[in-house]
Amino acid sequence: MKILTILGARPQFIKAGSVSREIAKYKEIEEVIVHTGQHYDANMSDIFFEEMQIPKPNYFLGIGGKSHGAMTGQMIEKIEEVCLKENPDWVMVYGDTNSTLAGAIVASKLHIKLAHVEAGLRSFNMKMPEEVNRILTDRVSQILFCPTDTAVENLKNEGYDNLDVKVVKSGDVMQDGAMFYKKLALEPKQIQNSKFKIQNYILCTIHRAENTDNEQRLRDIFEVLNEIAKEKQIILPLHPRTKNILNNLKLNIQNLTLIDPVGYLEMVWLIDNCSLVMTDSGGLQKEAYFFEKQSITLRDETEWVELVELGVNSLVGADYTKIIDAYKNNSTFNTQHSKLNLYGGGKASENIIKELISYE
Ligand code: UDP
Repeated sequence: MKILTILGARPQFIKAGSVSREIAKYKEIEEVIVHTGQHYDANMSDIFFEEMQIPKPNYFLGIGGKSHGAMTGQMIEKIEEVCLKENPDWVMVYGDTNSTLAGAIVASKLHIKLAHVEAGLRSFNMKMPEEVNRILTDRVSQILFCPTDTAVENLKNEGYDNLDVKVVKSGDVMQDGAMFYKKLALEPKQIQNSKFKIQNYILCTIHRAENTDNEQRLRDIFEVLNEIAKEKQIILPLHPRTKNILNNLKLNIQNLTLIDPVGYLEMVWLIDNCSLVMTDSGGLQKEAYFFEKQSITLRDETEWVELVELGVNSLVGADYTKIIDAYKNNSTFNTQHSKLNLYGGGKASENIIKELISYE
């Protein structure tokens, strides 16, 4: 069996890495990896392949830093060429980026079976490019690997029971990765080698377009973070998109400990050692839970609603007062909550490959 894996953005390297490790156990499966180049900086891409020992991509398409249309269009063209040459049994796509959508469109037009990992997630906000990408990708897939019960339920509500598609609750491949790499965590070099002293700290990331592309939201978020950082250190690995925008806005954010994006092993260390997570990332909300940390999500909605229902994640948007209140009223993580098997307990990759092998 030949699987053609499409990836291109940081969270996809982390997700696909776990599945590649599983594929490597099977002699009868060949994996061909296509990296679209959506993220291409050394600290957003190369480092993940190196330190997580993800097999080197067989194809690097070099399509990054473009508008949504240009990026997706060029990806479709190039992925089609690769698919025609490789003739895989499956195209496998992850999450909700433009690389995911491009892979899905090519596979469906060439009648190659398509597997979507992280299917069924919904924010119900059609203004998010990710929401559009995931809905379209789900609709043309033959097998949908859902990370959670909520994701399965979302697909049911959209009538997927009546479609010729297999919906599988596989669990979340990000939990596989978090469990595997926990023992390999590394203290970030930037912190060791710099003026920064690491104290009892909050780990924060901000990169989502709904925040970075809305000046008021971004100003409010950074104003409140800067205020909180007067009393508690906030370490913020800065996404290149956010960095560019912040440079233009000239905000006063001198209290924050800004560092460059880190590799996954250092990120795992930062999560494991922090006292609270504040983020607009999808992946980091769950990683906080895997490492038994409370999180505050700086978005108006989340795909990981089970964490909000459990009370381990406060969803507060970009509102100054709501963010401060969530920070002040934040409780300690109840470790009983991490015993609930919400995300499959680290077996998602195994489940996914077994399903693909037995698919008829
Ligand atoms: N991450 C990382 N280094 C960083 C920031 C994030 O390794 O400097 C990891 C993070 O732990 C998570 C993934 O990147 O596993 C999340 O990616 P991102 O927040 O870019 O995307 P999202 O999850 O929101 O799609």
